Amino acid sequence: MVSSQPIAGPLLKWYDKAKRDLPWRRTQDPYAIFVSEMMLQQTQVKTVIPYYGNFLKEFPTWKALAKANPDKVLKLWEGLGYYRRARNLQAAAQMIAKDFKGKLPDSLDEIVKLPGVGRYSAGAVLSIAYGKRVPLVDGNVIRVFSRVFLLKGNLKAGEGHQQVWRVAEEQVPAQRPGDYNQALMELGATVCLSDNPLCLLCPLIAICGASQKGLQAGFPERSEADKTVDIAMTCLFLEDKGKVLIKKRSEEEKWLKGMWEFPSAEGKTFEEAQKKLEKELQASITLPLLKEVRHQITHHKIKLRFFGARRKSAKALGKAYQWVTRAELSKYPFASAQNQLRDWVLKNTPSEPAKTSPQKSIRFKLE
Ligand code: SF4
Repeated sequence: MVSSQPIAGPLLKWYDKAKRDLPWRRTQDPYAIFVSEMMLQQTQVKTVIPYYGNFLKEFPTWKALAKANPDKVLKLWEGLGYYRRARNLQAAAQMIAKDFKGKLPDSLDEIVKLPGVGRYSAGAVLSIAYGKRVPLVDGNVIRVFSRVFLLKGNLKAGEGHQQVWRVAEEQVPAQRPGDYNQALMELGATVCLSDNPLCLLCPLIAICGASQKGLQAGFPERSEADKTVDIAMTCLFLEDKGKVLIKKRSEEEKWLKGMWEFPSAEGKTFEEAQKKLEKELQASITLPLLKEVRHQITHHKIKLRFFGARRKSAKALGKAYQWVTRAELSKYPFASAQNQLRDWVLKNTPSEPAKTSPQKSIRFKLE
């Protein structure tokens, strides 16, 4: 067992005064708390607030979510990122309806059987919704513990990560474990910031090793896993008889499964991505760059280039593809980078059906 000075006392005292008034802190409904915890993973509070309200309005119960159209669930999640969470949330609702008589399980053994529920989510939901003494560890907790207790090495994986969990288990109090877990995350989000932590406002300053030694900037230590990977992505705009080609991302994709997009391919270089895409669609690029978008998914830095293209073959495409009108484009769930391309298409391309060949109808404003 890790030996560490208890932090619950000062932390809870601070939380009672400083906590933000957030919508999911006004409810005891396990369903609403579960939804909020799924949304809050790797996402800032201010981003989550409107999504949380809209989601609960549309799907107020496990049952409503379980039987919803999956595209509608993803559409409500559009812009929130990490779309697997939405799919897991619906799968969890279906499992709760089928295997748990419509009630969120209150034991660790059972709750981790739900799709998308790992140790972090289990700790958050069990402690907040049911008052169970269960710890949690997320990026904020890692930062706070690494500084307070001067924990070194890679704390996101392997032995270092286990060490953080041992500290978390030791620290979580029997009284008010849900408030304590929220206080810990709140401290990481609002006071113990990555850059320039606000130590003078911190309830843990008297026991924080990093603050006492002036080492805040060195904790947590950076690891190889923090390094980003560059990915080149090419996307194509294809139009035929006034309809635009879009594709549903398959279950085999690394990320954004089930989301819709303008057909895309990835590679180490744009040329590699372009070749893959032209081969799959039997198409060739006919216009220079229409738009470039940069975005990041976990530690992958993606640079996406969007070109106009023309198919060289009339052969039918697979089931994942659909030709849709511009008006229909907005009904499909698109992730944020693809959403920018959709906005670009709606703003810059003519909406009248092509009367001659598709390419003659393209009169884009190039960027
Ligand atoms: Fe973080 Fe500073 Fe508080 Fe230490 S004293 S936990 S470094 S904010």
